[in-house]
Amino acid sequence: MVRTLTEDFGNPSSVHYHGQQAKSLIDDARASVAALIDADPADVIFTSGGTEADNLALRGALAARPGRHAIVTSAIEHEAVLTTARALAKQGAPLSLVAVDASAVVDPDAVRAAITPETAVVSVMHANNEVGTIQPILDVARAAREAGAWFHTDAVQSAGRLPISARAWAAAGVDLIAISSHKIGGPKGVGALWIRRGVTLGAILTGGRHERNRRAGTENVPGIVGFGAAARDALAERDARAARERVLRDALETGLAALVPDIDVNGDPGKRLPNTANISFSGVEAESLLIALDLEGISVSTGAACSSGTLEPSHVLQAMGLPRDRTRNSIRFSLGPETTAGDIDRVLAVLPPIVDKLRRLTGAATARRAR
Ligand code: PLP
Repeated sequence: MVRTLTEDFGNPSSVHYHGQQAKSLIDDARASVAALIDADPADVIFTSGGTEADNLALRGALAARPGRHAIVTSAIEHEAVLTTARALAKQGAPLSLVAVDASAVVDPDAVRAAITPETAVVSVMHANNEVGTIQPILDVARAAREAGAWFHTDAVQSAGRLPISARAWAAAGVDLIAISSHKIGGPKGVGALWIRRGVTLGAILTGGRHERNRRAGTENVPGIVGFGAAARDALAERDARAARERVLRDALETGLAALVPDIDVNGDPGKRLPNTANISFSGVEAESLLIALDLEGISVSTGAACSSGTLEPSHVLQAMGLPRDRTRNSIRFSLGPETTAGDIDRVLAVLPPIVDKLRRLTGAATARRAR
C-alpha cells in the first residue's frame, strides 16, 4: 500500500508505464480477492466497500430487469441491504421482508413463497453480522433461480471465515456476492462484488469505463492492493484461524456460563460464525456493560443504534422474536486472528464482577422506584 502512495502512484487507466504498473497491481489484487471466493478474476469488480457492493447488487438488478421490479430480502440483513431495499420500496419497488426463526435462520420455503414473477432480485446474507447465524443460502438461491429471480448474497461477514465458491454457488443459483476488505483485516473503504457471467447490472455510478464499464471512477489503488494482501492471508489461514477462534469463542461462552447466572447465547448454536458471541445478560443494560468494559480496554458492540438518547434495540434480535428486555441486554464479542487465550481469561476475570455490580445497581433502582 505504501508503495502505491509513493512509487507506483500511476492511474491504472493511463497507458503509460506508471499507469500500467498500477494496473498490474490491481490485477494481482483482483486475482487474490477472486481466489478467496473461488471466482474468475474477470467477474470481480472493486467497489468502495460492502455497502456499495450491496447497493450495486440491488439497485443494479432492478435497473437491469424490465418487467421485474420487486425485491425479496430477509428481516435480519445488514443496513446496507435493508435500507437500500426500503429506499427502493419508497420509489415503488414492491418489497417483501421474510421473517426468521428464533435462531435467526431464514426459511428457504418462506423465501420461495415470497417470490413472484415480478421479483428482480432476492437478497439473503451468508452469515449474520450480529449473531453469526449461517443461512441456507444455496436452498434460497435455488428457489430464486427456479422463479427467474437473481440471487444476491451479502458475504461480508463470512468471507475469510467460511469456505465460499462462486464457481460452485453459480451452479446452484447464486448471481451476486458482496464482500468487504476491512472484515478480513484489509483497509476500510474498499470491497468487491462478484457478478456471475451473463448477469449485467445497471450502473449506479456513471462516468468513465472503469472496471470493464461496470463501476465508474478511478480505482482506489492503495485500498485495492491492501485488500488483495489481506485476501491472500485470509485464504491461506482461513481454516486455522476459524478453528482457533472457535476454541477461544467457546471458552468465552462456557466460562461466562459458569461464572455469570442468567445469561443466554443468541444465534444458531450449531450453524454460527466461529468468531461471534452474542450474549444476553438478564437485567443489565447493554450500553452500561459496553461502557464498563470499554473502561477496562475491552471493546464490544451492542448492535444497537443510539439515536437522540434512546436506544433502539437491534432489528436482528427483534426479528428473532426475543423478549424486549433481552434485546436490550445483549452485547456482541467479535474475535479476530489476534485474539489470545489471555484476552479471554481477562474478559472472564473482569466481566462477572461488572455484571454483578450493574445488576445490584439496577435492582436497587427498581426497588427505589417500587417504594
Ligand atoms: N454487510 C455486512 C453483513 C456487514 O457486516 C457490513 C459492515 O459491517 C457491511 C455489509 C458494510 O460493509 P462496509 O463497511 O465495507 O461498507
